This record gives sequence, C-alpha cells and structure tokens, in this order.
Amino acid sequence: MAFDAYGAVLGRVLYPAWERLRGRPTFPLLHQLQRSERISLDELTAQRTGYLRRLIRHAYHHTAHYRALFDAAGLHPSDITTLSDLRSVPLLPRAIAQTTVETRTAPYPVVAVSKATSGSTGQPLEVRFSAESRHWRDATRWRGFGWGGYHMGDKAMHLWGLAAVPPSALTRAKIAIDRKLRRDIYASCMVRSNENLHEMVELIRSERPQVLAGYGQALADLARYVNREGLRSWDTIPVIYGAERLWDHDRADLAQAFGPAVFETYGCREFMLMGSECEAHDGLHESAENLIVELVVREPDGSTRPALPGEQGEVAVTDLHNLACPFIRYLTGDLATARAQAPCPCGRTLPRFGAIDGRITDTMRDAAGNPVEGILFNILFLNMAKHTRQFQAIQRRDGSLLLKVVPTATGRLPAEVERLIREFVGKHLRGIALTIELVTEIPLTTAGKLRRVVVEAGGWSPSHDLGETGS
Ligand SMILES: [Zn+2]
Repeated sequence: MAFDAYGAVLGRVLYPAWERLRGRPTFPLLHQLQRSERISLDELTAQRTGYLRRLIRHAYHHTAHYRALFDAAGLHPSDITTLSDLRSVPLLPRAIAQTTVETRTAPYPVVAVSKATSGSTGQPLEVRFSAESRHWRDATRWRGFGWGGYHMGDKAMHLWGLAAVPPSALTRAKIAIDRKLRRDIYASCMVRSNENLHEMVELIRSERPQVLAGYGQALADLARYVNREGLRSWDTIPVIYGAERLWDHDRADLAQAFGPAVFETYGCREFMLMGSECEAHDGLHESAENLIVELVVREPDGSTRPALPGEQGEVAVTDLHNLACPFIRYLTGDLATARAQAPCPCGRTLPRFGAIDGRITDTMRDAAGNPVEGILFNILFLNMAKHTRQFQAIQRRDGSLLLKVVPTATGRLPAEVERLIREFVGKHLRGIALTIELVTEIPLTTAGKLRRVVVEAGGWSPSHDLGETGS
C-alpha cells in the first residue's frame, strides 16, 4: 500500500489537535492503555482494584440507590477490597437500571453525556456518564480497534443502521466534522438488496477504505454478494465487526471477500467497547482498565456464581470510571463463554472471554406455558449452518411458531434437515404448531439488525426480567 501521507498527518497531528480543542485527553490515555495492556497481571489487578474501590465508595456515599442497596445487603464499601469481593454486590438487571436512573445519579461529577439506548424491544434505558468516563470509553475503543488494524486517521467504511433519534443540528455539525476529519464513509445496511450491496462495492472501489466496520451479519451479507458476483478487486481489508454473532461459515465468507483479518468486537451503547479480538484470533480481550466484565451463572435456587471455563454465563459489567451515574454489575442481556485464563500468544495480559455466544433472546412458551429459551434456535441452526444461511423464529400470539429460513445456495431445504428441525421443535416446544417458510431474506429491525427470535406481544410475551434482547 502506498504511504498514506494524509492519514499519517491526520492520525498524528490533526485529529489529536481536534480532540484537544474539544477538551478530550483521548491521546495520552490511549498511550497509557497501550502500555497497560502488557503490564503484569498483578499490576493490572492492583490498578483495577483501586478503581473499583473508588467507584464503590463513591456510589455508596453519593447515590441513594447504592446506599440503600448496600445497607439492605448488610454490605459496607470497606467489605470490597478485592475484585472477587465484587460478587457480593447484587446484580443490576436492566429493568432496575431503567427505574433507578435518578437515584443512581450522584451530585458530582457532573453528567457530561446522557443518551438512551435503542432497544429493539422494551423501554429504552437512559445512560448517563461523566466526562472522565467518556475519555476512557474513547481511548479504550481506539485501543481495541487498533488490535484489528483500525487506527485513528485511517479511512474507514462503516455499515451501520440509522440512529433511532435524529441528533440535534449542533451534534450533527460536530459529527460531520468528526467524520470529515476521520474520512469515515457511512453506508446504511438497513436494506441489503443486490442494488444496495452493489453500491457498497462501488464505494469500496472508489473510496478505497483501509478498514470495514459494522454489524456482523451486514458485513457477511456484503461478503457473500462480493463472492457470488466475483467482485473482489482489492487486497486484504481488515474487517471489524460487532453487535451480531458470526458463525464460522460467515467468517469464511468474509475472509474470501476481504482477506483473513477479521476481528470480533463486543460493545454496547451503555459502555462502548467491552472486548476485542487480537491478532491471535482466540477470544476477546476484556477492556479491563475501564470495565470489569463478569460472566455469571444463576443457579435455580437464586444464588449466582462465576461461569466455569467453557461454560456460558450472563455478561455483568461494572463501569469503573463512571462516577456520575454508576453501573455496578449491570446485566447487558448477552451471554458469553468463560475461559481458563492462560497467557495469550499476542503478549497482552488483559483477561479474555470466549465468543459472545448469542444474545439473550425472547423467551418462548410451549403449549403448557413453560418458558423455552429462544437461544435454543441459535444452537439448532449452528448445527445446520451448512444448509441454512439465516433464520428467524417467530412465536405468534396464538402460540404457533413460524420459522423463516434462508437456505444456502440450493434454494431448498433437504428433507432430512426439515425432519431434524421438526423433531427439535417437537421436543423443545411441545404441542406447538410449526410452519417452516423458506425465504430469500429476513427483514431487519428499524436499527438495521437481525432479530433471531421474536415473540409477538400478547399472552405469549416473555418475562423481561433478564432485560431486552440485544439483537
Ligand atoms: Zn491476544
């Protein structure tokens, strides 16, 4: 690749100057994080413990919610002296986070940013954070993207949905300057018709982005289009994806279309980047200086414990630098697989967690009204990835199940596969009438995401105690 003079100036001079103008110390913090990702585990733990104790003290002394929560649990901030002591603090489910925004807000530091998370279902959640937390978020995100080869100043093409709420004129102006400076290109992935996919290919050819970023399934759809039409005319372009799970066959499609540099990231609007894949492509490194990511298993008796290596747990996040409106052990609604902590070949000491194994989906019900975890369908279709591209399971108000399936190239579902699906549904959703519909595409949500499991509102709606679906 030719030396990118503008990119170099942009990354080293213009962008840092703009950040300074906006009063954001993103750069010094980024450099600090690039050092701390390789410090010893003991040092890292000591650093995080210090941040955690500060957060807990602040939350207890300055927010009504955490004062009441700790008092009710018979806890005092002085009880939290190690990272594992955090487990004695009750979890914060989304439903409680929604109703405690005011009582979790401290009188200081001031709230610098307030935003609503866009859920595909349920009520939005207001997230407030301090300026300090924003710097940490920005720096952490740039560090994680950097592992995938996306650095400040690089020309990136983003495949995203549209914002649910149009930003104000001032915000739009700031965003426009930011994008211009960063040379970012945005392509909406709401509709993925051949025509739209072709426009994206044209954009790649004319704009020559140095990195592609976006929803996993949107990028995979683009890759499949490129491969199907034989349109690849570029060297490797790193791909950074998030928000949606990619199966092995999706990653193979991406590698064929854009080269082998495919990196998963795990983020959300509440906390931004929580984990990123490194060049070892073996799990995601936790954004450990900014957050504590726990994987929690809830036992039938209501007690909780950390997930064992190889076991799936609910993601609970503690936001270490947001003292303005603390989130302690917030359940994001996602599931991830725990791993044994072994050194990563890349040399970074930040702990790793396994792939995000699926969002917590809506809960279905069998004919007797028993809850059935929608994630079962992810498992079913993981095993059938050879025959199906995409699927969506919709439980209708009357309880019946509509399974929309996009088959692979053959355009049909082998009888054997259909038999297995019917058997699976018969076993797990007892007494439920099943219709299988072969389709060429599955409509996306207004945010441009694919919802795998949909339970139509009414008598069959799920309990939302685990929060809304994330996809
Ligand atoms: Zn690594």
